[in-house]
Amino acid sequence: MGHVPMKKAQEIRRAKPRETKCNYCKRTIKGAEVTADHVIPIIEGGGHGWDNIIWCCIICNQLKSGVQVDYFLDALELMPISHRVPLAMDEESKNARRRYQSFWIKAVRRMKKILANETLLSEDGV
Ligand SMILES: [Zn+2]
Repeated sequence: MGHVPMKKAQEIRRAKPRETKCNYCKRTIKGAEVTADHVIPIIEGGGHGWDNIIWCCIICNQLKSGVQVDYFLDALELMPISHRVPLAMDEESKNARRRYQSFWIKAVRRMKKILANETLLSEDGV
């Protein structure tokens, strides 16, 4: 989630719930699966305040990285329910997680392309 001042990082660690729901994919997550995400990334002008920080799962956090939140949420809408899997480590879950991840990698690539095209279009319009 980019560079976070040490004091804020400690504050986040202390506030982190043991169990919660991922604010993006809505799965129940526990322990190390729970991560903090800057809704608007720091590099895009987002702040370190709690109004810009939410709890989400590791996968959503990694996949959202570098993608505008609106596009990320659009991709979530497209995600088949069968891909929304828990992170347990039995064989079946591992396979499901692989499907989930490959779906996400494709969705994020698609979003990045859309973003790139929109940038080109707006530059053309000038
Ligand atoms: Zn998630």
